[in-house]
Amino acid sequence: MILDYSDTICALSTANGIGAIAVIRVSGKNTFPIVSAIFSKDISSKKTHTAHFGTIKEGNKIIDEVLVNVFINPQSFTGEDTVEIGCHGSVYVQQKILQLLLKNGARMAKAGEFSMRAFANGKFDLSQAEAISDLISSSNEASHKLAMQQMRGGFSKEIDDLREELINFASLIELELDFSEEDVEFADRTQLNELLTRIEGKLKSLTDSFSYGNAIKNGIPIAIIGRPNAGKSTLLNSILKEERAIVSEIAGTTRDTIEEKIIIEGIEFRFIDTAGLRETEDEIEKIGVKRALEQLEKSTIYIYLFDSNQMNMIELKQDLKELDDSVTRIIVANKTDLISEEKLQEYKDFGIEILFISAKETDSLENLKQKLVSEMEKQTISQNDIIVTNLRHFEALSQAHDAIIQVKNGLENNISGDFLAIDIRQSLHFLGEITGQVSTDELLGNIFGKFCIGK
Ligand code: GDP
Repeated sequence: MILDYSDTICALSTANGIGAIAVIRVSGKNTFPIVSAIFSKDISSKKTHTAHFGTIKEGNKIIDEVLVNVFINPQSFTGEDTVEIGCHGSVYVQQKILQLLLKNGARMAKAGEFSMRAFANGKFDLSQAEAISDLISSSNEASHKLAMQQMRGGFSKEIDDLREELINFASLIELELDFSEEDVEFADRTQLNELLTRIEGKLKSLTDSFSYGNAIKNGIPIAIIGRPNAGKSTLLNSILKEERAIVSEIAGTTRDTIEEKIIIEGIEFRFIDTAGLRETEDEIEKIGVKRALEQLEKSTIYIYLFDSNQMNMIELKQDLKELDDSVTRIIVANKTDLISEEKLQEYKDFGIEILFISAKETDSLENLKQKLVSEMEKQTISQNDIIVTNLRHFEALSQAHDAIIQVKNGLENNISGDFLAIDIRQSLHFLGEITGQVSTDELLGNIFGKFCIGK
């Protein structure tokens, strides 16, 4: 069974393979006797948070010289008696020590089992456990910051506060129910409405933050769009400084979308080079153009790139009018290495912000990169402090939000308190799923099963 905490478990917690050192974790009731049986010292009487140098032996044979760290419950990651054995990172040594632990009564930990035990012992809630996973997989400063905030409980506090407000609300309604015979209204409807509006607003801003949070976690999608030969592939290549897309003189050769990740000032951007925007009869190219438009819809920011020598102001105006301006866009004039002074001035007088670059010259791209970073920073400031990055949380919040809308409608339509109470409980249920106040074996298995072994 997945929720069996009576065994003592062990696993390699550092990455698989050879390393300078490796860490093997042991946790559970019999940790100290099991480790003492294979270690040169008896650790059963040692103080918590102490380190002990000695040898691991199999019979008379020394397997390794190791450092054993002792954590006595509840002062450990899992909340149980725990030992971390720091050994040399040879695969043979790692395997041998694990085998010895198994021989002496431990069993191999399942995926995420250490974290699951920590959750069961109240060391952290579910969303914090998930944040540990995000922290481990974060590859840039921005996603690290979000994971760290969630791990340290910022998000959980927000959810708990919301739950508390809802519980207050529910108790007012339920009090009224108790006295329904007498037809009294304990809860002032205007006040109830205000409270609901506030809760609804908070839930909405949390769900709204997901598109940003998700973008930060998985990279911010940036579409590069423009007419054929504007220099989109060249720009992408210059940004990546490698020849990934095929650059060609023939219009319409970038047929599909190409995607690359790059980190600028700690923020990960996913650049998408799309097929040229152009009316086309060619079937394959049509798919490319369609995809370009789809990418545009999915992107957080798009770069509209044009060849500053080929476009006239009327064409430029027309393109801009056709393109979605509800998404943040950066308008970029390319090939300014060839442009005449007069034409340049014409663009400058055009009345909208245009960045001037030459995609062929990497140096000229600095202002574009800065612009991308500053646009993202602007969005961060306008966002709620708490940002949702996890799809599971987003779904639960959306459901909680839907239930609140039901309550709101019910209240407006003077629906009886019984029905309001049902929807309120629904909403509480979904919020509880986020932090784990409400959980099932299946839910826990789903979450922790995705963790690696040793975590
Ligand atoms: P795409 O169709 O928008 O992807 O355009 P490409 O990146 O394939 O570029 C079309 C042509 O313009 C190629 O011959 C590039 O070498 C050229 N090109 C792109 N950027 C510049 C630039 O900044 N200056 C000059 N002189 N040529 C450029």
